[in-house]
Amino acid sequence: MATERDFEVIIIGAGVAGLSAALFTARERLHTLLIERATFGGQIANADTVENYPGLPEGIRGIDLAVNMLDQAKEYGLQMAFTEVESLGTDRQPFIVSTSSGVYTGKTVILACGSSLKRLGVPGELAFEGRGVSYCATCDGDMFSGQAVGVVGGGDSAMDEALYLTELATQVTIIHRRDQLRAARVLQEQAKAHPKIAFRWDTVVEAIEGNGQVERLRLRHVPSGETSVLPVSGVFIYVGLEPNTGFLKGVVPLDGGGHVLVNQRMETEIPGLYAAGDLRQHSARQVATSVGDGATAAFFAIQYLRTIR
Ligand code: NAP
Repeated sequence: MATERDFEVIIIGAGVAGLSAALFTARERLHTLLIERATFGGQIANADTVENYPGLPEGIRGIDLAVNMLDQAKEYGLQMAFTEVESLGTDRQPFIVSTSSGVYTGKTVILACGSSLKRLGVPGELAFEGRGVSYCATCDGDMFSGQAVGVVGGGDSAMDEALYLTELATQVTIIHRRDQLRAARVLQEQAKAHPKIAFRWDTVVEAIEGNGQVERLRLRHVPSGETSVLPVSGVFIYVGLEPNTGFLKGVVPLDGGGHVLVNQRMETEIPGLYAAGDLRQHSARQVATSVGDGATAAFFAIQYLRTIR
């Protein structure tokens, strides 16, 4: 007999992919549990403004988008559990989802655990975390009001966050290891045109230094080998993402980068197990595409449940 811990759909991760999947399965009146270990919204909760989500031409604060998505799914009876998934058992039906607060079962599971920001891996990074080293400008930017900061990376995150930091800091220096950015063209244009943003091209951070608090970055210009010192009070690191799939090793096939292998229906090779968003192989890692992944996974999970009923 089914208990309150038995679900038709368990979604692991309440980022935009998971929230989108939850809306679709909850609207199908499927008994759905959304599990999240931290705060809902995932990466987008830390974004100041989302400007490329279709239909919202004025943009929307990342946290507002997440709140709206969660509220919308809850309207249809979605249940949530804030706990950490420790393991997933897929040997037989229903799947066993073991968490730090007990075991749940799900006839289908949608993996939507997203990704985490990578560390740079240089001396001083760990020691100064929370004391000048940050991975979230919208969370920590206020601490650097009226001061100079560095931003490491050349992708969308680095440009977005550097632009946000110009509202607070006196000077924002973007340190990028190449002479070409990989960020979207609009963001590149905005960053390059901004009077408070300077670039250090072809340059890597060798060390983060200070006395109890970040005071300077030790830099190396790669082509010439010349080293220099950049005085900053803070450094924001955006050097890419890694999928949160540690607990899935040996459970479901992953690629070399740890991303879950899926087909176009977001199905893994295990019937009833789906993956959506940043953690799946070849994700475009955009809000819009993750929302699409979640909807796709939910759509095929609904069909799968109909076949096994
Ligand atoms: P990303 O696109 O992977 O860019 C990471 C950047 O860090 C690259 O420029 C890379 O340099 C650099 N990098 C990587 N390892 C490094 C190292 N060890 N030392 C120095 N630099 C290093 O990561 P992201 O910017 O966080 O974006 C992740 C995904 O989210 C992307 O798909 C992005 O489009 C999406 N996103 C979208 C938006 C938006 O649409 N507004 C906002 C944020 C994120 P190279 O270029 O030389 O590889």
